[in-house]
Amino acid sequence: MAYKCELGNGQEVYIENQGVQTLVTLASSGPGQQQQASTGFQTGKWTVPPTLFRTATGVILRIESEQGQSFVQLQGGGISTMSGTPALSNAEVLSLQQVETRPNKSMPPMEPMKPMEPMKPMEPMKPMKMGNMEMNMNPMQMRMGNMSMQVGSGSSASFGKHFCPQCGASVTPSDRFCSNCGHQL
Ligand SMILES: [Zn+2]
Repeated sequence: MAYKCELGNGQEVYIENQGVQTLVTLASSGPGQQQQASTGFQTGKWTVPPTLFRTATGVILRIESEQGQSFVQLQGGGISTMSGTPALSNAEVLSLQQVETRPNKSMPPMEPMKPMEPMKPMEPMKPMKMGNMEMNMNPMQMRMGNMSMQVGSGSSASFGKHFCPQCGASVTPSDRFCSNCGHQL
């Protein structure tokens, strides 16, 4: 868990508690250049989240830990511990943002999670083949010799279709004989 604060002028500070160490990273990005400086301090384990103050002389970070209070000054890209307690009564408290990790230049940025592939409703059935008859599911497709028909895939016209009981060719209800094989319907 780390904390981040934008200091303005393209400067950002990341504060992280690693064991008994507090790692302060000052990152500045200007046009065409990026700089980053990290400094670790033995502060002890934080008891409360750190506080960042903006004073007339710079930005001061207050760490409260099991070992007591520590102050770190961020000034002109430099990070240094302060001896004693600075006067912070008139200082502006900067809001810290909780972030997962501080930026790490040696590692490429995490790839964004790929969106889940939509679940397939059904495994497509293997085509069924019998002699010269072939049947596929999804979309339903039937092929017989040089004849084929397809059901589904948006065609509602297939509803109410009639088929010859002899050869399976599509016939209309008004047909008296199958136009394919001549079977009496
Ligand atoms: Zn027929």
